Amino acid sequence: MTQMIIDGRKVDAQDGRSIDVVSPVNGDVFTTIPRGQEADVNAAVKAARAALEGDWGRMTALDRGRLLLRLGESVLAHHEELAQLESRDTGKPMSTARADITVLARYFEFYGGAADKVHGQTIPFQKDYSVQLIREPLGVTAHIIPWNYPAQMFGRSVAPALAMGNASVVKPAEDACLSIIRVAELALEVGFPAGALNIVTGLGEEAGASLSRHSDINFITFTGSNEVGVLIQQAAAVNAVKCVLELGGKSAHIVFDDAKFKLAIPAIVKGIVHNAGQTCTAGSRLLVQKGIYAEFMNALAEEFSKVRAGTPDMDLTCGPVVNKAQFDRVNRYIAKGLADGLKVAAEGTIADGVPAGGYFVKPTLFAAPSHDSTLLTEEIFGPVLVALPFDTEADAIRLANATDYGLLGAVWTENGGRQQRVARGIKCGQVYINGFGAGGGVELPFGGVKKSGHGREKGFIALEEMSTTKTLIQFYGE
Ligand code: ADP
Repeated sequence: MTQMIIDGRKVDAQDGRSIDVVSPVNGDVFTTIPRGQEADVNAAVKAARAALEGDWGRMTALDRGRLLLRLGESVLAHHEELAQLESRDTGKPMSTARADITVLARYFEFYGGAADKVHGQTIPFQKDYSVQLIREPLGVTAHIIPWNYPAQMFGRSVAPALAMGNASVVKPAEDACLSIIRVAELALEVGFPAGALNIVTGLGEEAGASLSRHSDINFITFTGSNEVGVLIQQAAAVNAVKCVLELGGKSAHIVFDDAKFKLAIPAIVKGIVHNAGQTCTAGSRLLVQKGIYAEFMNALAEEFSKVRAGTPDMDLTCGPVVNKAQFDRVNRYIAKGLADGLKVAAEGTIADGVPAGGYFVKPTLFAAPSHDSTLLTEEIFGPVLVALPFDTEADAIRLANATDYGLLGAVWTENGGRQQRVARGIKCGQVYINGFGAGGGVELPFGGVKKSGHGREKGFIALEEMSTTKTLIQFYGE
């Protein structure tokens, strides 16, 4: 039985209820977590508010930064333990889990170093006035975290919030919260005051909903589905609370006829099968210029068919998907692709010896004859890539923008003018030119447009998102 962290203590849910946690590798229950309710959320928000009014709120930016840096060091010192927890919850291959924990440490390092480097401004105003613009924390920040990259999403969301002096309440996903709880324990060990960082586990519609509608929070970050993103924004509206939403994507690779195959092909395969495709930034659409379409698809199919899914210990290209609901959803999309007339251009394999009850999906590369299938517009969140040929540069931009989402894009060409025109033509928050992969990159501002959400995380910009300004206007004349 794992416990939550509220006000510096490990606790069960006040009503003692718990939730079973199921292994994606074999479908067995391997632990339980507290099923937090409104009372637990209230206790966590109260503790966060008290921390802001106590030691945590009085701490200098330098000292907050030092604590974050110490937490980054502690994450690295517990690297293997955290990677094991992450992999047990999500089924990730061990090398992926290890890489994720390294990125988690990077968030604490980056924002630890940044904490005392966010400065205010002075503003020239009328005669005999001094005007200062100072940065202040927002207050109690709420963070609702998804299950696909629990450790990374936690670091991305919480590290800048703490760096700016907010006190945080985190609601991890019910499928995967073990690494997050362990990091919160480490935070206490390295000296974070009680209440600065609280973790409430539970179901989305219970603990998550209670947190998002709480009248004493000042900010929400949410990464997850569009449906829940709408609920979060509605709850935030009632209390006039700012929120940052990251709600998925349907990101397109655009491959022009002068692209370097040897660069593009491995990146395109990795961009969809990494984490079994359960990545908001997955490159799940592939647009290839007609003149090279057949040749490119042949070369891609050869690489794609090498992809293997297996258990964390087998450490292959990908693991299972996270749960039964996700398994059924991805398989439904594959069946729909076949029904829509898409051709299977290549398939990966599920390794021999994986447990029968595991949620392993066969990685699939589809070739689409036209833009008609919903597999080209809806987020699947599995290892399924759909390719489509295009004619001209204008067609490529039009097709890339033909979804409700706008998170990432990628342009593969050696033509410098085309790189700029296409990158600027795609409606999204990040564009790669001759590369791909948003994992890591803690320095790089990230977020979506359209239904991929709003607000920015990562980089220095997150420090602005997670703080506010106060303008001090002083008359010093006589
Ligand atoms: P998925 O459908 O991929 O599981 P969700 O958007 O449901 O993604 O979950 C992302 C996070 O949002 C999880 O921590 C989940 O518990 C939480 N969540 C789900 N429903 C709600 C809700 N109604 N209010 C607040 N949080 C929720």
